[in-house]
Amino acid sequence: MPESILAPALVVAAHPDDGDFGAAGYALQQAARGRDVFFLVCTNGAKGTSDRTMTRERLVPLRRQEQREACRRMGARDVFFLDNEDGELVYDRRFLEQLVRCIRTVRPETVLTHDPTDIIMRDSFINHPDHRTTGTASLDAVYPTARDHLNFPEHLAEGLEPHKVREVLLWGTNQPNFDVDITAEVDRKIEALTAHVSQFGSRDDFISFVREGWRSDDGRYLERFRRIELRF
Ligand SMILES: [Zn+2]
Repeated sequence: MPESILAPALVVAAHPDDGDFGAAGYALQQAARGRDVFFLVCTNGAKGTSDRTMTRERLVPLRRQEQREACRRMGARDVFFLDNEDGELVYDRRFLEQLVRCIRTVRPETVLTHDPTDIIMRDSFINHPDHRTTGTASLDAVYPTARDHLNFPEHLAEGLEPHKVREVLLWGTNQPNFDVDITAEVDRKIEALTAHVSQFGSRDDFISFVREGWRSDDGRYLERFRRIELRF
C-alpha cells in the first residue's frame, strides 16, 4: 500500500474495542478518503471477559487478534499495542513517553481519544479509570510534550522529530461540539465491533442497544466529539 499524501489520523484507545466504539465511523470515512488511520491500544486487554474458563494467557493475544481484524474492517492502515496492564493503567513518564513516541512516529494531523474531563457520564455510567488516564496522557502528549525537542530528547537520536498535532477529537464526552454523520457507515461500524467476538460477538441485544445510542432525533447516526483545533 503506498503512503497517503493526506496527513494521518491516530486513534488512541485504552482497550481493544474502545476506538471502534468511539470513532469507527470517522475512521471508515477517513480511510475511504485515502487517509492513513492508525490505532494505538494502550493496555493489554487482559480483563474484558465474564467467561470463567478464559485465561489471561489466551485472552491477551485473542483480543489483539480481534482488534487487528476490526482495524482491517475499518480500513485502518495499522494498529500498535502497548503492554500496560488492563485496569491498572497509571499516568507516569513511561506511559507519556510511549504516547509521545507513537505521535512522533505516526505524525498525525488528528488525534482521537477518550475525553478524560468527567468521571460521571450523564448520570448513567462511570468513565473507566483507564479511559481517563489514556485521555489525559494523550492530551498532554499532544500538548506540550510531543512538540518540544527537550522532552524525551533521546528520540532525536532515533530520528523521531518533534511533532505538532493540529486537531483533537474526544469521544465519550459530556460536551460534544462536533458531529460526524455516520449514517452511511453504521452497518460497517457494527461489523467492525463484532470482530471483538470475545466481548460481544453473539450479543445482538447489546449491538442493537449501542446502535440506538448513535441515532439522533432526526434519524441520522452520529459520532459526537469534543473537537479542539490547535492553531499554534
Ligand atoms: Zn475501555
